[in-house]
Amino acid sequence: MSQGITIAIDGPAGAGKSVVSKRVAQSLGYTLVDTGAIYRSVALLAKEAGVDWQDDGALKTIVAALDIRFNFVGDDNQVHLGDRDVSAAIRMPDISQGASLVSAQASVRAGLLDVQRNLAGKGGAVLEGRDIGTVVFPQAEVKIFLIASPEERAKRRHAELVAKGQDISFEEVLADQVQRDAQDEGRELAPLKPA
Ligand code: C5P
Repeated sequence: MSQGITIAIDGPAGAGKSVVSKRVAQSLGYTLVDTGAIYRSVALLAKEAGVDWQDDGALKTIVAALDIRFNFVGDDNQVHLGDRDVSAAIRMPDISQGASLVSAQASVRAGLLDVQRNLAGKGGAVLEGRDIGTVVFPQAEVKIFLIASPEERAKRRHAELVAKGQDISFEEVLADQVQRDAQDEGRELAPLKPA
């Protein structure tokens, strides 16, 4: 069996990375790794444990014990922590902010490198995130940096959240996105930028 290649899809929140990476993984029969969901899971576990999203030392322990698994069912890329399905819980707006904060911590980024590489496995894989082509898989054969205007991205995110039953305004989604973009682009470690 051929080993397949590694495909990196990076870009800011709401650019359409999830839809593109799902379709590519489905049509090639590749493993799909949503790396944002991994940072979101760390933020969720920290919140539940009462750990501050900027407490590098305590986050390191959470990352070391992380038991995360993806389960691609139909069009749904479910996220499991142990035997718990956290797919919906990790999409809440406060967890988006938390993910952006925990992702700026050195021990979190370092600890998640192997997690991401192991999840990609040895066969073909599609990974979506912010630093896949620059840091996690600099040797990836295909690197895509997907962008869209801030308004368009916020419009899509807003529609997605409303469809999931969340009561949130377009302005709140846009403000949250502007803040997250600034954090992700401005951080010292693995900032969001094209490979
Ligand atoms: O892609 P998503 O919006 O789910 O990612 C949540 C947060 O996780 C991002 O705002 C970013 O701060 C962080 N992230 C990251 N590196 C990645 C993927 C996500 O820092 N490879």
